[in-house]
Amino acid sequence: MLVTTKEMFQRSREGGYAIVAPDFWDSNSCRTYVETAEELGVPVILSFAQAHDDMLSVEEAYMLAKYYGEKASVPVAIHLDHGLDVETVKKAVDIGYTSVMIDASAQPYEVNVARTKEVCEYAHAHGVVVEAELGHVGSGDVITSENKEALHDDHSIYTDVEMAKQFVKETGVDSLAVSIGTSHGLYKGTPVIDFDRLHELRAALSVPLVLHGGSGSGDDNLERCATEGISKINVFTDFTVAAINATKGEDYINWYKLIKDANAAIKEKLKFYYGLFHTGK
Ligand SMILES: [Zn+2]
Repeated sequence: MLVTTKEMFQRSREGGYAIVAPDFWDSNSCRTYVETAEELGVPVILSFAQAHDDMLSVEEAYMLAKYYGEKASVPVAIHLDHGLDVETVKKAVDIGYTSVMIDASAQPYEVNVARTKEVCEYAHAHGVVVEAELGHVGSGDVITSENKEALHDDHSIYTDVEMAKQFVKETGVDSLAVSIGTSHGLYKGTPVIDFDRLHELRAALSVPLVLHGGSGSGDDNLERCATEGISKINVFTDFTVAAINATKGEDYINWYKLIKDANAAIKEKLKFYYGLFHTGK
């Protein structure tokens, strides 16, 4: 069944756990995520990042997620991850996404507020919930060749507590992605998470908190985040890495078999995260 993230976050807040928001990039990953959630009887937030529109358009992604989500026995939210411009985010609302993110976190505070507020007004009028980001989860310590340039000019900026209170009040945003030490992509080492900042943010804000850059952040760190105030943890890279590791070294003569093995590895990884995050039913 298709839902917004509202009820999911209420429960996760009460239960003291987080929900995984896995990013899908094709029909295999999308179906695998839903199958996994159904096997475990837990909700799933199917996320599609606008930056992956070289693989699927925002429309194609929605059609896939809707198809698998509607017939699922568990709650499924369809989320636009990292909406980069107001126009695309509004389009996602029109198409039927049940949750959208507007990411203006790299912009000055006033611009972030203005864009988030505009999206909130539009989305709320259509019954859709909005996530925004304050502070900035960069892709600082990245080791992929694709993102190499980002190493020097996309540093993370930690979320300021007072600013976050003001931001939520000014924008009416439904959930907030915060920056407390994680980074997008892969790490060279394990990051240091600022748990004091997390506790302060949790105490000061009534909206659910979201953590980006879950991949490679260290299992202990993520488990603590999930049980100490984060309601949703975004994971993308780790699923692609799991697929690669499971198929590496095999002398495949059959693409079909390779995809199946990759799907199985992605399912295992997602099950692992549901366990790590203590996700309740
Ligand atoms: Zn992110």
